Amino acid sequence: MRRNRKAKIVATLGPASGDLETISALFEAGVDMFRFNFSHGSHEDHRARHEIVRSLETKYGRPVAILCDLQGPKIRLGTFNGDSAVLTEGSQFVLDRDQTPGDATRVYLPHPELFEVVKAGQNLLFDDGKIRVSIESNSGDRIVTRVTTGGKISNRKGVNVPDAILPIPAMTPKDLVDLEFALSLGVDWVALSFVQQVSDIEDARKIIGDRALIQSKIEKPAAMLDIDAICKASDSVMVARGDLGVELPISQVPRAQKEIIRVSRKYGRPTIVATHMLESMTESPMPTRAEASDVANAIYEGADAVMLSAESASGKNPVRAVQMMDSIIKEVESDPVYRTLLDAQQVAPRPTPEDAICNALRDTTAAIKAAGTVTYTKSGSTSMSAARVRPTTSILSITPELKTARRLAWVWGIHSIVGGKDVHSVDDMVSEAIAAAVHEGFAKKGDYITISAGLPFGESGTTNLLHIATVK
Ligand code: PGA
Ligand code: MN
Repeated sequence: MRRNRKAKIVATLGPASGDLETISALFEAGVDMFRFNFSHGSHEDHRARHEIVRSLETKYGRPVAILCDLQGPKIRLGTFNGDSAVLTEGSQFVLDRDQTPGDATRVYLPHPELFEVVKAGQNLLFDDGKIRVSIESNSGDRIVTRVTTGGKISNRKGVNVPDAILPIPAMTPKDLVDLEFALSLGVDWVALSFVQQVSDIEDARKIIGDRALIQSKIEKPAAMLDIDAICKASDSVMVARGDLGVELPISQVPRAQKEIIRVSRKYGRPTIVATHMLESMTESPMPTRAEASDVANAIYEGADAVMLSAESASGKNPVRAVQMMDSIIKEVESDPVYRTLLDAQQVAPRPTPEDAICNALRDTTAAIKAAGTVTYTKSGSTSMSAARVRPTTSILSITPELKTARRLAWVWGIHSIVGGKDVHSVDDMVSEAIAAAVHEGFAKKGDYITISAGLPFGESGTTNLLHIATVK
């Protein structure tokens, strides 16, 4: 089974898509990576979904990526008398350490860290930004605010703090438990929510080691201020427009999306554009025109993947939403302008043998109109570097490691297979690459293929070889 497109589809699993039949249908419709959202569902739910996805891998003989998305430090208010209160614009509202239920004048804030850092003049947003208050003073025990946008607020609504870096790690105690559970299942990618600084990624890497790769969700203004270093330190990046659009003025989100994609590309970090892509399909069988354009534009911008959240997790039309993304992506990729745009954003090679080879691979593939590009990789790094230069053909990535094949399944242009275990010489490599290219539908007799690999075989980080082969 081969997808006839280069950009990929990520779908979140949830109550609307937890059974074998639906997950199979989602995969057949085009999902390349399944997202397990640890903000919802029990460990048993995730375990059952994990088993189903892995069983599909066996059934279809294709590696599939799984992303464990950790909830992260989501800040919440305490509770209210009668479960809610109405905040009116212009009135005073106090956040304090008193655990008794709140009212229209005060509420408990169960996050001591916040009292340490927020200052007069900063804003706090409640309930996905629906209610806004401006801080007038903070004594360390009482944050006195003035309501700037009022409304009804209920128990444990979320709090966004766009203007401050909070002295909290990107992983909470719940995240640490969820993480160990997810790693024990064998997930391929771990997404960190509300990343604020490079040390958040470094701290996570100390725990995760090489058990999974790390994706940083960009959803804080603080992360945008250090986006270059954050992309560099991460293995991949998500444009998490849901929270980003609460914390930044919403008018800045499209620009931030473009910037995140551009910087990620520079470092060869695959990027997902997420949230509200086909939101109306949670209810209706067709998306809005604006949503169809949004998916298409993310692809034109050069994103590796587009993501479904509620559309596939809890909506009425999970499979149709994937089919819609699949057809939009194919339409964009058949437009000659898409190639022009990718070429216009071409990035300079980093001064490494791997990038030098990948640039040559790209130019050679285009010059001789090769039918396919084959990369041999152990860690996945060569294949990701090949994807970074956006070659004119799909990349047939061959790795001896199943976990690498899975990790690469959602990266732009990569068709990932397990192989290369018996390759000991250049001759072995060429004959295996040709056989695989023919078997996977890349090439036929008389075609050229280009191959990149590293000598000695089977060692990571040795990419130093470019070869042109003719299919005989
Ligand atoms: P979430 O992340 O769905 O876990 O909040 C994505 C986003 O904020 O867009
Ligand atoms: Mn989020």
